[in-house]
Amino acid sequence: MSISPCPLCGSNEHTSLITCKDFTATGESFHVKQCSGCHLLFTSPRPSEVESIRYYQTPGYISHAAHAKGIFDLIYLIIRYFAIRSKFKLVSQYATGSNLLDIGCGTGSFLKYSSKRFHAVGVEPSDNARSLCQRERLDVLPNLQSLSSRSFHIITLWHVLEHLHDLPATMTFLKTHLEDNGTIFIAVPNHESLDAQYYHQDWAAFDVPRHLWHFSKMTMTKLAAKHGFQIKAIYPMKLDAYYVSMLSEKYRRGKHTAAGILNAITVGLRSNFSARRNQNYSSLIYVLQK
Ligand SMILES: [Zn+2]
Repeated sequence: MSISPCPLCGSNEHTSLITCKDFTATGESFHVKQCSGCHLLFTSPRPSEVESIRYYQTPGYISHAAHAKGIFDLIYLIIRYFAIRSKFKLVSQYATGSNLLDIGCGTGSFLKYSSKRFHAVGVEPSDNARSLCQRERLDVLPNLQSLSSRSFHIITLWHVLEHLHDLPATMTFLKTHLEDNGTIFIAVPNHESLDAQYYHQDWAAFDVPRHLWHFSKMTMTKLAAKHGFQIKAIYPMKLDAYYVSMLSEKYRRGKHTAAGILNAITVGLRSNFSARRNQNYSSLIYVLQK
């Protein structure tokens, strides 16, 4: 499948920027294209929703795993724990009520943590991940349609929007199901970060074809405005620069090596340092309100 017209600006014109490999599931190649109208980046060709399933069926898809299998998974889980704590603190600052929805909740780690304070509901299409959530007695539904007319004070999409096939429908859902004084948190990778430019086609956060869209501050701002949202604030996810760089080194070298990890730390430091000027951190959290 290919995307035309652009869901953000309606243009049918686009150019091919780079070709990236699916490093985790199939080894297949996909283009990352750029819309000539609004500069949104998207993966092309893209699997349909049904075809997408097999690209997530890798034993090592860590977002859907509860336990670490090696040192790198352990690093991921430690980073995830600190990331969850800081996400919870951030979300709490903006909360005007107790109803929280976490879209794409994976195995429910943020959902579980936020249940301390919020009445938290998750949505997760993966049967495996959802059953792990249910084992923890978390309230998790398979899709957005199952939520019917419920509305929320907080809606979070932590590295999820880039996976969703129907961007306009998702934004319309957010608009409809957010309380008038509510807040949405959207975390996505930033292809304008220094680590993205350094690793180029090997940048782990392109993650084709699981990532269908690749956002920058400009395209996210256009997307928010098109659907009647204002971006109230943008926050960095500084740990992502190191994590994504380590993964990119692995893809580039074929395995984790000491030299790769050392270089990843250097690139991560440089990325975070240069982002102090232009806010182009490896990943960004956008805070949206109506
Ligand atoms: Zn466009």
